[in-house]
Amino acid sequence: MNYESLARPSVLTQPVYEPGKPIEYVARELGLDPAGIIKLASNENPFGPSPRAVAAATRALAHGELYPDGGCYELRHKLAAFHGMDAGEFVVGNGSNEIIELLGHAFLSPGNEVVMGGPAFVVYRLVTLLFGAKAVEVPLREWRHDLTAMAAAITPQTKLVMVCSPNNPTGTANTAEELTTFVRSLPDHVIGVIDEAYAEYQEMAPDLKPLIREGRKIVCLRTFSKIYGLASLRIGYGYAGVALCSLLNRVRQPFNVNAIGQAAAVAALDDREFAASCARETRAGRVQLEQGCRDLGLEYVPSEANFLLVRVGDGQRVFDSLQRRGVIVRPLKSYGLPEWLRVTVGSLAQNERMLSELRQI
Ligand SMILES: *Cc1c(COP(=O)(O)O)cnc(C)c1O
Repeated sequence: MNYESLARPSVLTQPVYEPGKPIEYVARELGLDPAGIIKLASNENPFGPSPRAVAAATRALAHGELYPDGGCYELRHKLAAFHGMDAGEFVVGNGSNEIIELLGHAFLSPGNEVVMGGPAFVVYRLVTLLFGAKAVEVPLREWRHDLTAMAAAITPQTKLVMVCSPNNPTGTANTAEELTTFVRSLPDHVIGVIDEAYAEYQEMAPDLKPLIREGRKIVCLRTFSKIYGLASLRIGYGYAGVALCSLLNRVRQPFNVNAIGQAAAVAALDDREFAASCARETRAGRVQLEQGCRDLGLEYVPSEANFLLVRVGDGQRVFDSLQRRGVIVRPLKSYGLPEWLRVTVGSLAQNERMLSELRQI
């Protein structure tokens, strides 16, 4: 018997996630100097983590011999104060991607359905398929989640509905009113998952906590990978009613979140000025990229996140040309958008470099 015949059927058909290539890979492949390469492919924070988070992480590293606090006590209490909720209403994960996987562990069996936008964050589909469930993709409407159509796509087999707002890869968001109406309309057997990975970049992010207090079946996802600049440490969280958090905590590994990440995240939450300045700089950078696209006659989708969807024609070709010039962005063929690139908003200098390379191409 070979390994394939022993594997669960969903493993054999599982698609492979293609991450933005690390700078070192591209340098090796193309014979470029890594120092001259900029990466605007994975929506990372060009300003890095808060110096206070780095100091806290460094202190935590000195006790790397100890297992971390599996319950993330300090971080959950810090988050509770930050959001005005109870510590029991948080579940912390190895990136918010892990929370999506925990939702799969807790709720998905073969035959279940998960409703999601198309295109939306690809991990929803990957986790759905891994658990043998069916991904029901509802096309976006004018680049935003069509919540009416998503509600209509719910069947008795539906367990989860994934709403990404602002959405990756489009940068578009649904309003607080739209989300509230949608969540209140969900049938009792469905859990709404609202992915707020980019909420901190919004001028005014919808506050869905009243829906949790109302007892609606939802979980909101946040991450330290984007505005807090801690993608490398893999830390994200969900907030929801205590009953849902307890179930998710039951299916996670005992030490799923490392101590260095926990310490950094606590310090990052304390440095509100740094996060606010990253949000301001990113908005300015987005305006710069939008203006640059208009100057080049390129269509783009107005974004509420730290990236911009830009129509360049042959996305793969422009991606390749940019990469040869040392600028890594994200082609979107796998998202069904072959004419578009997703460009992360970088520092002002990085944005200028990106635009100038694009101009030459
Ligand atoms: C980047 C991103 C995340 C964050 O994932 P982590 O596992 O926390 O790094 C979550 N959702 C969306 C839509 C994202 O784009």
